[in-house]
Amino acid sequence: MVLSKKRGNELIPQYSLTGDLLSYLRCGLQYRYHNGSSLPPSRPVQLWFGEFIHGVMEAAYRIWSTTNPAFPWPSNPTPYRQAPPKGRSAHDIGVIGDVVEGTLMAQGKSARSRDTRDNAYVRAQKAVNELGPHLFPLIASAEERVIGTRTIPNSSANASRSQLYELHGIIDVVTDVQLSGATTKNVIKQAIQDSCPGLSGNYEVIVDYKGSRRPATSEPYWQQGEWQVQTYGWLRTRQANSLPVAAGVLLYVNELSPVSSDLVSLRREVSNNKTDVIPANGTPDSYALNAWRTGNAIPNFSLAFRLARAIRVIPIDPTSQATATNNFDKVVASIEQCVAQEAVAGAINPNWAPCGDEETCAACDFRHFCPSPYPHKKGHVVGAPSAP
Ligand code: SF4
Repeated sequence: MVLSKKRGNELIPQYSLTGDLLSYLRCGLQYRYHNGSSLPPSRPVQLWFGEFIHGVMEAAYRIWSTTNPAFPWPSNPTPYRQAPPKGRSAHDIGVIGDVVEGTLMAQGKSARSRDTRDNAYVRAQKAVNELGPHLFPLIASAEERVIGTRTIPNSSANASRSQLYELHGIIDVVTDVQLSGATTKNVIKQAIQDSCPGLSGNYEVIVDYKGSRRPATSEPYWQQGEWQVQTYGWLRTRQANSLPVAAGVLLYVNELSPVSSDLVSLRREVSNNKTDVIPANGTPDSYALNAWRTGNAIPNFSLAFRLARAIRVIPIDPTSQATATNNFDKVVASIEQCVAQEAVAGAINPNWAPCGDEETCAACDFRHFCPSPYPHKKGHVVGAPSAP
């Protein structure tokens, strides 16, 4: 019997759903620059804010599940660069925030300004006190790691390093929801039931916190958010202990406390029919939004309207999962192609598309030597990793 020669070890590239695929879609060139260095970005405002909200919600859930303090929880943040106030309780959002800020600081991440930090505490307080009473009782597990292996499409044509890739991620929250169709006072459960009529029984629902406003339905982030939870759903069903996944829920925390720029965007999206949650005609929320002008105080929108803007439910089924995962496969193929082109050319810039949007470019460390920061020069952005 002739023994076949041992095959060489094959490199299986590993991709994080948020750290790689969504980052690459945000800007290909920025993604490449960050991956060439282990240093965290120097002004990671989006990163810091999102991670601060995640950290506070995670810690608040742990406290709620052990000692169950009644809502609303107090919020007395440590004043900027001063000593913490005395006499705060363990569930004070200021105390929770100190721990989260300290952890992020140790990783080299801090708020860009005092305003950013103050704003983060306001939103964290709203997230805990307005979403927490509905979300925390549904949580089955938090920070759930998921992993799966997928095929890279056209791997030979793209000169990919492998035919397969490993996809991994961390689901913020997995909830165990009993769907019955009966009306409930839990706004998150009610939103899931409204979006998944006809389902009954026990299901998992995947929840992801977003440190951002609800995007316009025409923005790439709208579709990418859907792909993200659909793909988490696919990864989750690879785990032995999972129940059927009914839906994903994105929680857009900024909607709980909008600032002026959020209202400018909302008014524009309402007039262009580019958002799916608007105040009903004739309501105080509708009047306040129509009457608001830049420079005016932010109106006191109702809790119901703010929660409706914050909660987005995306039903998950095998067809929608296949669409989302196939799209992320194409993103991986696109990254692999850039890697191969750079290896041949020996240069970064021509092989990774500088395609950040206005907000991404404004906070980007590389904007001073980027060949095409926002607003992009006409005709310069070739091969941008737009939505596949
Ligand atoms: S400045 Fe903008 S386009 Fe250039 S690398 Fe940064 S995010 Fe990308």
